[in-house]
This record gives sequence, C-alpha cells and structure tokens, in this order.
Amino acid sequence: MSYMMNLKIKRTLCAVLASLMLSFSLTACTPNEKNNETASTDPAAVTDTLPEVTAGETTEVETDHDDPALKPDHLTIGGVDISEYTVVIPASPGSYDQLAADFLVRFIGEATGVTVRQTTDAEAAGHMILVGATAYDTDAVKSARSEIKNDGYAMLVDGGNLYVTGALDRGTLFGVYDFLEKYLGVRMYGGVTYPEKQEMYEIKEKLRVDIPADLRTVYYSPVAFRKTSWTAVNDGWACFPFWNCYNSSEFKFAAGAVHTIAHLAETGGDLSPNPCLTDENIYRTVLKNVRLELEKYPGAQYVNISQTDGTSHGCQCKNCLAIEAEEGSPSGPWIRFVNRIANDIKEDYPNVLVETLAYTFTEKPPKVTKPAENVAVCLCTSSCCFVHAIDDPDCPRNATFAGYVKDWSEICDHLRIWTYSGNFQATDNGDKNGFAPNFRVIRQNVKYFVDHNVTAVYVEGQQHTADRQSTAMGELRAYLWGRVLWNPDMTEEEFIAYTNDFMNYYYGDAGPLLLKYVDTVYGDMLDNRKYNKLMEGHSYVICEYGRFFRIYDTEGNCTTAYMDKLADIWNEIYALDTLTDVQKYHVDCAAVQFYDIAASVYSTIASKTRDSDDRQKVRDYKAKLRDARERTGL
Ligand SMILES: [Zn+2]
Ligand SMILES: [Zn+2]
Repeated sequence: MSYMMNLKIKRTLCAVLASLMLSFSLTACTPNEKNNETASTDPAAVTDTLPEVTAGETTEVETDHDDPALKPDHLTIGGVDISEYTVVIPASPGSYDQLAADFLVRFIGEATGVTVRQTTDAEAAGHMILVGATAYDTDAVKSARSEIKNDGYAMLVDGGNLYVTGALDRGTLFGVYDFLEKYLGVRMYGGVTYPEKQEMYEIKEKLRVDIPADLRTVYYSPVAFRKTSWTAVNDGWACFPFWNCYNSSEFKFAAGAVHTIAHLAETGGDLSPNPCLTDENIYRTVLKNVRLELEKYPGAQYVNISQTDGTSHGCQCKNCLAIEAEEGSPSGPWIRFVNRIANDIKEDYPNVLVETLAYTFTEKPPKVTKPAENVAVCLCTSSCCFVHAIDDPDCPRNATFAGYVKDWSEICDHLRIWTYSGNFQATDNGDKNGFAPNFRVIRQNVKYFVDHNVTAVYVEGQQHTADRQSTAMGELRAYLWGRVLWNPDMTEEEFIAYTNDFMNYYYGDAGPLLLKYVDTVYGDMLDNRKYNKLMEGHSYVICEYGRFFRIYDTEGNCTTAYMDKLADIWNEIYALDTLTDVQKYHVDCAAVQFYDIAASVYSTIASKTRDSDDRQKVRDYKAKLRDARERTGL
C-alpha cells in the first residue's frame, strides 16, 4: 500500500473516482480532473441502477481482401457508394452526436477520399448515415435500440440508410468509433503532448468494404462501467473523448469513492484506524452523514462506506471480533454494517447502492451474511499476482483470489473490481520506474471477472510520465485495458494483434524490440515460478531487482550476463535510424525505466565484484538515464 504517499495529501471529499485511490492518490484532485463525478460529461447518462447485462449479438460484415477487381479505399452501404451519403444528426442533438458525426465525416474522408456532407434531420434527404436518435428512426431502429444495454449501440441498415445509435448519448459515439475501427481500419492510439499535442492514429487497412443492406448489430460491453486512470486519457487523449478507453462515467458517488468510513464516522481520514462497527454512536453518525451526502449529491448512484487505507485490520473490540469469528472473515462486520445502512436508506433512496470495499484484510467474503440487494462490493486485486492469469490454478496467490471473486459473485448482485496497471510497490519503495510485467494477462483477467458477473472495472494506473511514477509503456497498458474492457470476449489472437498494432505504430521499428525486452524478462518469470518469491506486496510487483534481474550465475558468482542481454536489446533499439521524432520520444520514455533499473542492478553487481568494467557500466547507465530524462522531461 502506498499510504506514505497518501500522507502527503490533504484529503478533500473529492468524489472523483480516480482521485480516491486505494493506494496512491498523489495526483488526486489535479486541476485537469473533473471535480466531482456527479458533474457527468453525459447528462443523459444517469441511470437509476446498474442495468442487467448480458453479451450483445453481432452480425459480421463480409469483406473481401483478395478480390483484385475491387478498388481499395472504397466503401458502399447497401450497394450505394459512400459519396451518395449524407451524415445526419438530430436537429436537437444529444451530447455526443455532433462529435460522433464529425469523426465520421473526418475519417470517411481520410480513409476513402470522399468528403461526405453533414446536416440535421430537419433538412436531410437522399441516402443517410443517421447518428443518434433522429426523426428518421424506423421501427427496426427503435426495436434495435431497445435491445441495447449500458453504453452500447445499434448499427443497422434499413431502407438504404445506415443508423448508428446508442441508448445513452455516448453509446452513439462508441458505435461510431466501432464503425470507424471495424470498417475503415482506423486505430486510435491516443495522443502525445511532446513536443506539442499530436494525434496518434493510423488507418490500417484500405480496402473495399461493402456494408450489406441487411446489416444489423447490437453491441454493448458486459462491463457497464470501465475506467482506466492513465492520465494521458485525460490530457493527451482529450482530443479523442473516450476513444480507446471507451470509459464510462456512469458511477456517481456521494461521500467520495473510497476509504470513507472515518470521514463518515467523524473519527479521522483516509489513513486513520477503522472505527468500531458495533458502536451505536458510530452507526448513528455514519447514517447521519450518509444522508447528508445523499442530499448534497442528488442523482448519486452510489454512496461509499469503506475501510480506511493502510490499515491491516478493522476494530479489534470484543463485539467486532466476535462477528469476524462468526462470519469467518473480517469482512463480516463491514457487510453487516453496510447492510444496516442500506436498509435504513432504502425507502428514501431506492436507486442508491451502498458500496463497500473488499480489500486486503476484507477480501474474503463472510460465510453467514450476504450483502443486501442494494449493497455493492468493490473487490480489489491488490494481492494478486499479475505474472500469471487470475485463473491460473498453479499460481497460489491467484488461486486464492480467484476463489474470492467466485464466492463474492455468488452472494453479491453488484460486484465491482478495482485493479491496477502500474507498479505500486516501486512507487512505495521510492523507485521511479518499476518494472511491472502485468499486461499479458489483462485479457484473461477481464474474461474471468466478466464470467463471474462483474459489471464494473476500475483500473488504477500510472498517473503520468511526467510524474516519474510510470511503468514503462503505460500508454500500451491503458490502450489494452480500454480495448479489453470494451470487448472482453476478444480472442488471444485479437489481443496480440492489438498489442502489436500499438507497438508498431507508437514505437515504429522499436516496437517489436521493446516487446522482445519485456518478453525476455516476462518469459523467464512465466517459465520459472521461483520468481514468484521475488515479488510481493501491493499488486504483487518486483521488490528485489538484484535477484530478479539475475545478478548471480549458477555457481553463485556475480555476473552481468543477464543485464547485458537486456542491454543488447536496448542498444539495438537505439541503433535504429528509422524512427520518427515522436517515436524516439516514446522510446526514450520507456528507456527511462530500463536505465533506472540498469544503473541500480549494475551498481549492486559492481559493489560486490569491485570490477572496473562493472563500475563503468554504472556510470554509463547513470549518464544514459540523465540524458533520457533530459530529452523526455521525465
Ligand atoms: Zn468494535
Ligand atoms: Zn503467479
């Protein structure tokens, strides 16, 4: 846990989800972030409760890549050339309709060379691509829209017109994104802010696409709430709202999003001891403040009552411990407490869920009491191993945790997951750039969550490269989390393709080499479970670089052989002369992490061998680190 970091933060009851992090709220309420989740970017997005979710159905469009008679860059809809179409939005558009239409026009233009006209349904005619809920909605469109859940969309051709529409405003936008990705080959990787804001996207395939006259797709992610707190999403990627991450801001919290109990009980802050949950005065105070919060935030969907951070236990009084014993878990007193609050506010706030954490000492569900129907549980993966997939039966840490996911899913109707994309232990230890071999399992983990009725996933990520708390290639992780949470059913091949697309574009020819570097380390860990012993703590990260990066040979002598092998890959990367300036910048950002590790590991070796060559390597890597930091501003 990173509560040392938290100590530096003066907490406010800021309800930004990303700001109230389980472990590291250094950038808590940055000016860039919205001040309160109740100030949704999508005013139409308020839903009363979490909708019931099941997987959507999809109709695939056939494309013919091999037919030489077909012209590239060519798009038809129902046999009609794209140049005949007009993009149409409602005369009174929803929040994102105009944006969605602008993206359509822009990327149809870039992919096909055809500039389509854009207008509103007040004056439209001819063949139309209708964006959002327009006056031209047919029964077929209305029927398809009624099947949409969450922020999904319907995409269909009816009467020669193409309709893309969500049930929520942002669903329409996501439908357009999927259209552009699927049919026009647009891959949106985000943006960079160095040396100035630049869009990072490519149009992968230019081929003839014929969208059939009977296209009908209804799609939604089973994960109703998805959020990845990679700051680039808020900053560099702001030019592409929600793209990649397809984030949803559906959850609106009263009373803050996490670690709220001591505030509500008026006994302290995020890092205070947990108050007594069997004390009637505490109960009355919490209830009073919960009601005050709910009055203050009308429209809140959640009120969070959860344990403080940095604590390893709840109240240790006789009564609380008796409940723990009866329930077989320290989560027992919490579930009983929040159930009681939930019951007390149910009548006045029928649409509010009372949420609590299952985190560290409360991971294990109680064996007697079930969460009430208006109680949500947010289970945090801080004790998981990210080297292995969560359902890898040979990983003892994950076998235990996967069991908790399953057990909670059986007793709780509203199960959320709080997980991580960065290396928090490294931050705790004061290292700036911890190696976090955690992105190869993203797909399997999300699939496991979804298979166990998880409908919300929050990914606490690195904050920003400029914070020096990045795990290298955080942009890739944010991208992959976004893709997977939007489409948890993707295959491993698709996941690998997404990874490779991103790496090849974002890092150019260095992409495959960077993956080789990661996989060299990562592959060794997968193959050799003794590496588990070198990882521990919050979100299970590398805690001992020296042994992890193999400073001993089989005879027990100090050796630089393993580090030299990794260094060779980096030398190869820096020998490339094909990279653009932006790609070089991306490579430098990733290199900062390796140089940091290399300086540290070579230094450990040199202190033992006292060899002058080894000492020179330390100096070299410190210089490289300094230079890369200078170039990147990290
Ligand atoms: Zn107590
Ligand atoms: Zn493991």
